[in-house]
Amino acid sequence: MKSANSVLSSYGTTVFEVMSRLAIEHGSINLGQGFPDGNGPDDVRAVAHEALDSSPNQYPPMMGVPELRQAVTTHNKRFYDIDSNWQSETIVTSGATEALAAAMFGLIEPGDEVVLIEPLYDSYMPIIQRAGGIPRLVRVEPPHWTLPRKELAAAFSNKTKLLLLNNPQNPTGKVFDDEELAFIADLVCGFDAYAICDEVYEHLVFDGLKHNPLMNQPGMRERCVKIGSAGKTFSLTGWKVGYAIASPALMAPIAKAHQFLTFTTPPNLQKATAYGLGKDDSYFESLAGDLQAKRDLIKTGLERIGFTAMDCSGTYFLNADFSGLGFIGSDEDFCRMITLEAGVTAVPVSAFYSGPGIDTVARFCFCKEDDLLLEAIARLEKHFGT
Ligand code: PMP
Ligand code: GLN
Repeated sequence: MKSANSVLSSYGTTVFEVMSRLAIEHGSINLGQGFPDGNGPDDVRAVAHEALDSSPNQYPPMMGVPELRQAVTTHNKRFYDIDSNWQSETIVTSGATEALAAAMFGLIEPGDEVVLIEPLYDSYMPIIQRAGGIPRLVRVEPPHWTLPRKELAAAFSNKTKLLLLNNPQNPTGKVFDDEELAFIADLVCGFDAYAICDEVYEHLVFDGLKHNPLMNQPGMRERCVKIGSAGKTFSLTGWKVGYAIASPALMAPIAKAHQFLTFTTPPNLQKATAYGLGKDDSYFESLAGDLQAKRDLIKTGLERIGFTAMDCSGTYFLNADFSGLGFIGSDEDFCRMITLEAGVTAVPVSAFYSGPGIDTVARFCFCKEDDLLLEAIARLEKHFGT
């Protein structure tokens, strides 16, 4: 048999699927893969339900239903004062994952360099490599995940086509500050490059911080593709509704890729997402407030057991170093061990590196009911005898 594509074949099954399967197999509390244990807001689901029966279920327009494209424009104006034209500058995709793929396939020419910040979300590298891009990786280091400015500047060259910035960042929970964003923007402008901004966790920021899109930095409006996800903003990860805004010049090649990837996204889910984006401020405030309390709950519990919790200003992931617990083995071994022996699943952070990375840290997802988080902590406490 002839061989399959060598780039994609070189990857195994994603760590999220692997750990979720293991959690199901062993009946453990799954704090690995990032998904809430609730069912999303009732009113958003009700709109989807209603639209399923009262609206057409045939192919919606390729760029998305007008209601959602308009809602995306209104949302970006309301939260970030970004003006955009819903007809020439917005697109609806099947999850942020598809928006990322469409942006990379649309923009990268074989041989182009792409700057990335590790640890990073696992869909980036295979798509960049499949598109013929050459990754240039720099690392933020724990526990504060500070941006290494010198290394970042050195990663840019005249061959740089784009930077992929995930802010707030999975898995670190880092929220890039204004100075870091200004520094990044200067590099992108200075090298006449673009930025794909994965901002799926834009509404999950804590401690009074406000999400600040890279697109709002001077000179960046025309250079950025800003991506969001209903999965994160409405705790409905199974819907896979994503959206992006970009200048018409960037949107055109992205739409070319999108038309051959998925072409459209279920129309009733698009309508419900449009409704959701218009919800009151109180919805967005309580989403972040509730998660902040859960972050504190899991952080306190893990620290009591002997983990060293890292900074987390956004997303719904807390990273914890387990070196103090006396475990001998890698982070993969550790996550497997706690699944089997303590009945709690986490994700090894080394999975977010393309080569050897830190391997004494586990990522715990905390967008779960408090009772479940408390039970997970109790199980770990019992296991480690604290
Ligand atoms: N980017 C990041 C950083 C993520 O954590 C996720 C999580 N699923 C995605 C993109 C994908 O979002 P979606 O489910 O909307 O495709
Ligand atoms: N974004 C989620 C996480 O980081 C998982 C997404 C997936 O399972 N593909 O856990």
